[in-house]
Amino acid sequence: MSTKRDYYEILGVSKTATAEELKKAYRKLAIQYHPDKNPGNKEAEEKFKEAAEAYEVLSDANKRSQYDRFGHSKPGSGGFQSHEMNMEDIFSNFGDIFGGGGFESFFGGSGRSRQRKGSNLRIKLKLTLEEISNGVEKKIKVNRLVQADGVTYKNCTTCQGQGQVRKVVNTMLGQMVSTTTCPACNGAGQTIDKRPPGVDSSGLISKEDTLSVKIPAGVADGMQLSMSGKGNDAPGGGIAGDLLILIEEIENAELKRDGNNVVYDLHISFIDAALGTSVEVPSITGKVRLKIEPGTQSGKILRLRGKGIKDINGYGHGDQLIYINVWTPKKLTAEEKAKLESLKASPNFKPHPDANEKGFFERMREYFG
Ligand SMILES: [Zn+2]
Repeated sequence: MSTKRDYYEILGVSKTATAEELKKAYRKLAIQYHPDKNPGNKEAEEKFKEAAEAYEVLSDANKRSQYDRFGHSKPGSGGFQSHEMNMEDIFSNFGDIFGGGGFESFFGGSGRSRQRKGSNLRIKLKLTLEEISNGVEKKIKVNRLVQADGVTYKNCTTCQGQGQVRKVVNTMLGQMVSTTTCPACNGAGQTIDKRPPGVDSSGLISKEDTLSVKIPAGVADGMQLSMSGKGNDAPGGGIAGDLLILIEEIENAELKRDGNNVVYDLHISFIDAALGTSVEVPSITGKVRLKIEPGTQSGKILRLRGKGIKDINGYGHGDQLIYINVWTPKKLTAEEKAKLESLKASPNFKPHPDANEKGFFERMREYFG
């Protein structure tokens, strides 16, 4: 059960509010409840965060439509998931709301010093079905930008080492003297004096790093995992960016993935289907011996419980489904033809499905739920 307030109500706008109306409403609340204007006021801080979360969701067309359909609840994996935003997120989004200089420029410089963050690194990671099924620890090589040694700095000449420059701006609250991050040094107060070869203008150098990455069981193609602080270093010091890992699934030649289930197509001869047999089928964990009952029909689906992929949210394992395809011979010798002809008259060879022989639609319903 959610006790969250309705996002539209929080922002005080109608369900049909335009992007511009949302932005305006949020800007008003952000100014009203900004922590710098309400020091030590917990209630204002909560309202500030609440408004930021509401805006974050409603300003994103995708998230907004999911929210409109499902509200705060999360109906299954594809559903809407709201999340608590931290202050860092909120401030970093202010650029869009208040223009280039962010909130600081709007309020004439509160002295809030935000740590700078390094850029994120993106890599692709290919995984086999086996690795996905069990989870895996991978050693990966990445080229990260790290703080270089031997770089000397001097005071920034634009801001005289202050990291900020002052200017007069016209805002919707009237004319204000604002302080904005120095564009020359990005707020560091220092610029590079001398740098060794290979070091970029931010004082960073590319270095190969080997990282150990734990991939949880049950990831899927297209998922992105994030390792905080494993991206590029921040220029001039600060928090390193994140390493974003995009999962790519290597297709398995025999087993097809269907959610947490794996599906295998098994072909048997109609003689084996009639007499029964024992076959070996591949599974994620290796070969599995499978008994085919005498009188098995084509289209039957056998289920190996728990032989599928482990659910990423910990809801157990999927199953392996085995589709039985009875193979009808396409070529026959004269002798084989004669043998089959001799059986044709037997009433046992006449199709006579009974209540236990499920048709295609029934099998599909059973499988899909
Ligand atoms: Zn500067």
